[in-house]
Amino acid sequence: MVVVMSPDATAEDVAHVVERVESVGGEAFVSTGVVRTIIGLVGDIDSFHHLNLRTLRGVADVHRISDPYKLVSRQHHATRSTVWVGRDGHQVPIGPDTFTFIAGPCAVETREQTLEAAHMARSAGATILRGGAYKPRTSPYAFQGLGVAGLEILAEVREVTGLPIVTEIVDARDVAVVAEHADMLQVGTRNMANFGLLQAVGESGKPVLLKRGMTATIEEWLMAAEYIAQRGNLDVVLCERGIRTFEPATRNTLDISAVPVVQATSHLPIIVDPSHAAGRKDLVVPLSRAAIAVGADGVIVDVHPDPETALCDGPQALLGTELRELAQAVRRLPEAVGRTSAAERVRTA
Ligand code: PEP
Ligand code: MN
Repeated sequence: MVVVMSPDATAEDVAHVVERVESVGGEAFVSTGVVRTIIGLVGDIDSFHHLNLRTLRGVADVHRISDPYKLVSRQHHATRSTVWVGRDGHQVPIGPDTFTFIAGPCAVETREQTLEAAHMARSAGATILRGGAYKPRTSPYAFQGLGVAGLEILAEVREVTGLPIVTEIVDARDVAVVAEHADMLQVGTRNMANFGLLQAVGESGKPVLLKRGMTATIEEWLMAAEYIAQRGNLDVVLCERGIRTFEPATRNTLDISAVPVVQATSHLPIIVDPSHAAGRKDLVVPLSRAAIAVGADGVIVDVHPDPETALCDGPQALLGTELRELAQAVRRLPEAVGRTSAAERVRTA
């Protein structure tokens, strides 16, 4: 059940609703949006009916819902959301109407490599820089990332290039340090169902990029987003990055239909990662074009100044001709589906 507060509801009104819900043994999760607050109720629906919640001051509406996820559902939040990424004076939108291009190296390896990749990303039109300081590798013997030193490099590169940073977090204990350096926290496919981590990023106060688990259904993915929203953080962007199927030609199978399916069910923005989906650089441009055509709110792509020596995911990193082709696609195609480049809507106030 969801209680929608009216735009002029006071903090006392919200607190009173929470108190009433708790008085019958229920739990109330408050999410404060820009315009209005919504309260997700968990517990015995019949006992909530006895509370006559509609009669309480500040309550605009009460809904019984069928989706197992509430706060991220579009049922009570018909307008699709925009998530702003960056700091005061420079924030990039991800959401309907705009198309956001995110690029950068899979992993932060050195200051020079990251800076060079950031320049490549920016020249190609990217407005947000990606780069992993903590790498969740399948093999414990593979490069695990530079950790805090990598975060420092990212923060430094942001200073030089002006690009806000999205970087992965793999351990709830690192939330404070990652949030201090980055503008957006990424939860990767291997951690989509790490509920403690989802709750921790939900409390971080930073926007979250939530990748789809490689074996997760769309509903499970949205339930993972609900964990973040339930902690008061509605700034969640979903990322389709391919799922495991029987097809070995690509690293994963990009589930392109997930984009319109999610957009019909959830108000959260959704972007596509063609690099981790395909695992092959020759497929990144065609899959990016597909993502734009299907209506994705952005793409996130691996670029590297020297893929041959990359410590992580070299075969899927772009440079040269492919990167130029991608730059052209993200410059020209969004307009054909009614989107403006996010670069033109950057918030500088
Ligand atoms: C990444 O983006 O660097 C990454 C590890 O992606 P995924 O979690 O989708 O595999
Ligand atoms: Mn990678």
